[in-house]
Amino acid sequence: MATSLSPRARLFCGLAAGLAAAAYFAFSALLVSRMKRGAGLWEDWPRAAAVLAVSLAAGMAFGMLVVVAPAWLEQRGARPERVVWLRALAPGAMLMVGLMGTMTIARGSLLWAFAEFGFLVVIMIGSGIMSAGHMRREGDSRHCPKCDYEFGFPDESAAPRTCPECNEPWIGRLVRGTRKGSPRLMIAGGVVMCSSFVFATGGMWGGGVARHLPTSVLIMWASGARFNSAPMAELASRTLTPAQTADLARRLLDRRAADRFSLGVEGKQWLDAQVTAGTLPADLRERFFAEMFMGGVHAPARVRAGEPFTVGLRDTDGADGYTYRCFVCIAGFGVGDEAPTAGRSADAFYPNLIDAADPSPYSDNIPTATLVAAAPGTTVVRAEIWVVVASRSPAPVRWGSDGTPSFSGPVEWVRKVVLEKRVTVTP
Ligand SMILES: [Zn+2]
Repeated sequence: MATSLSPRARLFCGLAAGLAAAAYFAFSALLVSRMKRGAGLWEDWPRAAAVLAVSLAAGMAFGMLVVVAPAWLEQRGARPERVVWLRALAPGAMLMVGLMGTMTIARGSLLWAFAEFGFLVVIMIGSGIMSAGHMRREGDSRHCPKCDYEFGFPDESAAPRTCPECNEPWIGRLVRGTRKGSPRLMIAGGVVMCSSFVFATGGMWGGGVARHLPTSVLIMWASGARFNSAPMAELASRTLTPAQTADLARRLLDRRAADRFSLGVEGKQWLDAQVTAGTLPADLRERFFAEMFMGGVHAPARVRAGEPFTVGLRDTDGADGYTYRCFVCIAGFGVGDEAPTAGRSADAFYPNLIDAADPSPYSDNIPTATLVAAAPGTTVVRAEIWVVVASRSPAPVRWGSDGTPSFSGPVEWVRKVVLEKRVTVTP
């Protein structure tokens, strides 16, 4: 197939395929990073540049290896039955290298990338074996690159310039070997492809498997796989050593920090239970509470001096559990040196409902404040909030004259947090 182009046209096709693959890798990585907590990849320049570099390198390797190399090798006399494996396995292999590479950078974890896309690797290997079986050639006879008609002329100079069967110019572009598919290889490839379903369903419903695995393997499974309910349920029923408990808690907290919706019911319940039982080291217990809320200030990047503008909070999705709920109490907003008291509220807000940058359709009570910057230059918008973890809402909140809150009902954990955003004030 690929020999029916001139070397120059083939090189252009290779470059085009490479650029298309690079765009695909970069776009997938950007999309995945948008699903992640907080800022997207394009706000993180070093990481975005790394994704673009890896995408371009993998894309170009894809184009050269898939479009250019097989024909180049065959024209230099490489045996077709060898080149078949390059043709069959290179596309999938390069796609996987590019996808896994960019996903690992976007998510910061190879384990995560493999847990998420590992089944694709199995499918690619299977389809590569299948198409190798389909394309297999044998022997030294030569054939038309388009229709496979056998070149039966011992003296090449006396042969017709074009194929008698399909009229394709064939001198210098003949394919070597009789086409002879291998049913055994094709079936083997199909079996490998189907085994990816075993991986996928095992990951989702692997309760029976989980029971027989050692705790260390379950900890890796629970912290890496997309569906972790089977290993988490099994871990919850086992007695872990303090070191194993700390290891699992750290991995789950890392996972929660990377994607706040990824812990699953069993993961949240397990963390809640460890906090209640007091089995976590102090630093992990602190992280469990402190990283429930990781939002920032929402304000325009540029405002005009003397003109009012609205501020609020952004990226406010909470990562709390069932026993321990996270609430945000607003002491107030301020600009420059003024005391942050604008918008002070007696409410205790549920973080998932108060993102001013991306307002929830389920809330008509998103805390905001209207501020005015006095003089041109650079200034800071400040939000002073109190993050409260409790089993039920601590509202109504009463604010003391010094800006200290007192809560209705018991609270488990509380911290004052000051969030800032730089703002340019134009005349
Ligand atoms: Zn032909």
